[in-house]
Amino acid sequence: MRRSQLFLKTRKDISKEEVSRNAQLLTRGGYVNQVMAGVYSYLPLGLRVLTKIEQIVREEMNAIGSQEILMPALHPREIWETTGRWDAVDVLFKLKGAGDRDLALGPTHEEVVTPLASTVINSYRDLPQAVYHIQTKFRNEARAKSGLLRGREFRMKDLYSFHTTQEDLDTFYDRVMAAYMKIYRRIGLGERTFITYASGGTFSKYSHEFQTLTDAGEDIVYEIPGHTDVLGVPERFGINSEIIEDQEALAGILPNYKAGDEAKLVKHKAIEVGNIFKLGTRFSKACGLTFADRDGKPQHPIMGCYGIGPSRMMGTIAEILSDDKGLVWPDEVAPFRVTLINLKTSDASTTQAAESLYTALQQAKVDVLYDDRDTSAGEKFADADLLGCPWQAVVGPKGAEKGVVEWTNRKTGAKQELPVGQWPW
Ligand code: ATP
Ligand code: MG
Repeated sequence: MRRSQLFLKTRKDISKEEVSRNAQLLTRGGYVNQVMAGVYSYLPLGLRVLTKIEQIVREEMNAIGSQEILMPALHPREIWETTGRWDAVDVLFKLKGAGDRDLALGPTHEEVVTPLASTVINSYRDLPQAVYHIQTKFRNEARAKSGLLRGREFRMKDLYSFHTTQEDLDTFYDRVMAAYMKIYRRIGLGERTFITYASGGTFSKYSHEFQTLTDAGEDIVYEIPGHTDVLGVPERFGINSEIIEDQEALAGILPNYKAGDEAKLVKHKAIEVGNIFKLGTRFSKACGLTFADRDGKPQHPIMGCYGIGPSRMMGTIAEILSDDKGLVWPDEVAPFRVTLINLKTSDASTTQAAESLYTALQQAKVDVLYDDRDTSAGEKFADADLLGCPWQAVVGPKGAEKGVVEWTNRKTGAKQELPVGQWPW
């Protein structure tokens, strides 16, 4: 992509409304643009990042055998009445449709997926099933001041699973947990993200949250030193502040818990980047979803639901992995792998060298943003740092003469000169 043709203008100053670091950087870098609090447009660079994150989520969901579908955002009031949530969900956006019909904008999809499942599930032979979608959610959040971290319109992947037995749900649930950790590792948040016990709601003792440590987070989590993950790998594991006061719950979570052990827990601020629940039969009962068991008797499938927030994860990466010069994208989610800077567009041999490097990178299937604009070198460097692609390739008159390219790693700042056609990775 040529920078001169890109739908992008980086900015030095942005509206005072954007107080959070992620929104400041993403807006200045032309990744997103605020329409109102908690509602954003994604520009070409922003959409590339979001799409990459969603593709990673998709790959990991497909890898555990769940199937992608797409459910609507517009819901009739009746399905929300069926489960008793029309009035109970305080963030539900309600609106009027044609014929004065009451409608809602979906904040989650149990009310749609459970009746949908009844068109497929009749017998125990039809189970288990797991379907997900990646889609825009709406929540009338009271506070929407954290950029992409808390949107009123935001992206979510929500997966729903249906099982004949609790054991079958438990096995699948652990697989989702492992898949989520893989997602956080791939998008560069693995080291800072850990699994947290949270209060579970009606049908299971706990739900599990995935919390990424950052001072920008709104949640408080307590780390349990020395815990291991579902695969037996030593890992940080935490407890959400809602259950920390509950001695009985602590005893259930901490092996060999003794009163006073909570003093060993380490407190952190964090942002919830994922949340998984065992729903039991709450929704299959409410929606009348049944299957015939081996004896032909009707039973309600046992359900799980599993949410992850791609737009919040994008905001979290921007918040955490940035520095004083701008964004620093991890390889797998960067909009482009390389920013190619032509230091002197007015010089024919420099431009020729830059153009041929641009072609070579494209032929090698490397995503490259080519800064071919007729602007100062200082502006190009500042822009490349702000945009935060992992590698910067600089071609100037001297390099063009010697046939070398200067490569800079955006994260470490390390520089190296390489002959044209050699890559630093
Ligand atoms: P929170 O406690 O932060 O309000 P939640 O527990 O209500 O979130 P869930 O219903 O568990 O959120 O949604 C699943 C995932 O969707 C969350 O883990 C988060 O990653 C994302 N998410 C939820 N609400 C928002 C939002 N307002 N903006 C962006 N992402 C969100
Ligand atoms: Mg949650």
